Amino acid sequence: MLDVGWDWEKLTFELPDEVKGLICAIPISTLGGGLDKLAWSGSPNGSFDVKSAYGIAMKSSNATVFSVSWIWKIDLLPKVRLFLWLCAHNSIGVKVCLGRRGVVQDEVCPVCCNGSEAILHALRDFSHLKHVWNQLGVTASNHEFWHVNLVDWLSLNVRKNDKLHGSGTPWKIVFPFVIWIIWKSRNDIVFNRKGQSPKLVLDIVYQAKEYLHCVATPRLQTRRVLRSIRWERLEHGWRKLNVEGACNELHGLVGCGGVVRNEDGQWVAGFSKRIGITSSFAVEL
Ligand SMILES: [Zn+2]
Repeated sequence: MLDVGWDWEKLTFELPDEVKGLICAIPISTLGGGLDKLAWSGSPNGSFDVKSAYGIAMKSSNATVFSVSWIWKIDLLPKVRLFLWLCAHNSIGVKVCLGRRGVVQDEVCPVCCNGSEAILHALRDFSHLKHVWNQLGVTASNHEFWHVNLVDWLSLNVRKNDKLHGSGTPWKIVFPFVIWIIWKSRNDIVFNRKGQSPKLVLDIVYQAKEYLHCVATPRLQTRRVLRSIRWERLEHGWRKLNVEGACNELHGLVGCGGVVRNEDGQWVAGFSKRIGITSSFAVEL
């Protein structure tokens, strides 16, 4: 580029006039003295940012884009909700997830030593867990439950309104507690060398019930009552006296006043008084 325009002589080929016209119409920054500079095309100001780079990378890859933002809208304990989110993103500490990140080399389940420990193995398919799920009412013939992929499995179960047999607690509340308590139990076995808790199912039912009655139900029953504060009309022959005190916090000076009105709200009598220095509590008295 020259001071006065584009140096077409540098081009080894001829451009059509209309293309030259388009090029000439591009405004050139005067800040850099006309010199070339690198600019990031992903952002309007030419500066690199990770957000636009991520967007470009996602567009160019054939990765399946899935959204599990519905997890944040579920009525759950925050720690359980976060656990669901981590599960949906294959980010809990089961051997398969750790193996993918290069943290461990063997992916064998540390609890049953029978097959690799994927998330569904640790939370659903491990043979001892089938008994737990059965006790909670999931039958062996429930194809939808036992054969869907991880995200569909989470999504289907946290939306089910069916009541847990014998407890009246909706399945969508019980299910998150099941996988949360199974996960904690698995960690106790692996890290604290504890055995499988015989009270697992009872713990699940109690915790789900507690959540339902102490958190979910009171939240649903909360009703906002709007009460307007205003002067109410009196019965015939009555007068109303309203008094108010005020206090200047800086100097401690206080005063009070009052007004007497009749049944129609018309002023009958009134007073105001300077009290001196005292507290706002005293002046209200
Ligand atoms: Zn296992």
